[in-house]
Amino acid sequence: LVSRKRQPKDTVVMVGDVPVGGERNVMVAGPCSVESEEQVRQVAQTMSKLGIRLIRGGAYKPRTSPYDFQGLGEEGLKILRRVADEFGLKVVSEIVHPADIEMATQYVDVIQIGARNMQNFELLKAAGSVRKPVLLKRGLAATLEEFMFAAEYIVSRGNTQVILCERGIRTYEKWTRNTLDISAVPILKQESHLPVLVDISHSTGRRDILLPIAKAALAAGADGIMVETHPEPSVALSDAGQQINLEQLEALLTQLRQTHDLV
Ligand code: PEP
Ligand code: MN
Repeated sequence: LVSRKRQPKDTVVMVGDVPVGGERNVMVAGPCSVESEEQVRQVAQTMSKLGIRLIRGGAYKPRTSPYDFQGLGEEGLKILRRVADEFGLKVVSEIVHPADIEMATQYVDVIQIGARNMQNFELLKAAGSVRKPVLLKRGLAATLEEFMFAAEYIVSRGNTQVILCERGIRTYEKWTRNTLDISAVPILKQESHLPVLVDISHSTGRRDILLPIAKAALAAGADGIMVETHPEPSVALSDAGQQINLEQLEALLTQLRQTHDLV
């Protein structure tokens, strides 16, 4: 169902009034984790000023260590919803438990399924059973075929609104957190009709190469990019080393807009 052979025409996923796929490119921006209402409001205010519509923020965090900040849970989703409504933004947030999918649809506009859960088949089935767009991230060691089959789990349950997101894969290279598989972009666009985004933050794990990486993603045909941004990255409760501050977000967007129509 997700194959281009079955549907030659691009799928445009409507997130409220924001199209993902199609003519314009989108930027999904926001903090790694929802930490407080004030933190989310600062980000949202800047985004609305810049004309970026899709805010991200993790409320359920799949952390490597059980001793690290695990997220605010449902309270985090409530914060996102309140602040997003205040600024006319749409919410993208990760859900990690199948039983939370139904509840999450009250708060989020896009259900994110993270890299670590790309092959959590019960979660995929649950996401397929609701009528909400799903942003599915590529697994840390998933082939593109496995990635497309994961999307197929969702679509085959009747939820056709799936956005694919390349976020880098595990390799031996240590100078980036993951290795962005740039060839995944044109291949996924060729093999599938679903929109494709590139997460430039988790794929690199560093903020000093975001502009060339974002340009590469868009040049390769991505429908948009995801970037982590925080009012004060150095004190972030997760991914402090890769998030950009709000001035850097504005600078990145301004530079990308010289060549791309990005909302
Ligand atoms: C995230 O986007 O918040 C995240 C945890 O990313 P990933 O699942 O790609 O590691
Ligand atoms: Mn993160």
